[in-house]
Amino acid sequence: MDAKDLTKEYSNGEVTIVWKNALCQHAAECVRNNPEVFKPREKPWIHPDNSTTEKIIETVKKCPSGALTYYLNDAKP
Ligand code: SF4
Repeated sequence: MDAKDLTKEYSNGEVTIVWKNALCQHAAECVRNNPEVFKPREKPWIHPDNSTTEKIIETVKKCPSGALTYYLNDAKP
């Protein structure tokens, strides 16, 4: 697998954030909107437990590149 083309998932139990490395433009919109969750200097860099599900969804929707998406854990069969 190409290391540059990663898809990673981060869950707080209710919502799962899906991040596609190849699409990320590092515009840091997510960092600006929710710095408690998106910490680019850390590994892993997404900490979904640090915020409410509502705020996570709001932040994910503001990602300009489509690198971030989400699904609600309940919605998965
Ligand atoms: S907002 Fe989207 S494109 Fe920008 S850094 Fe975050 S994940 Fe990457």
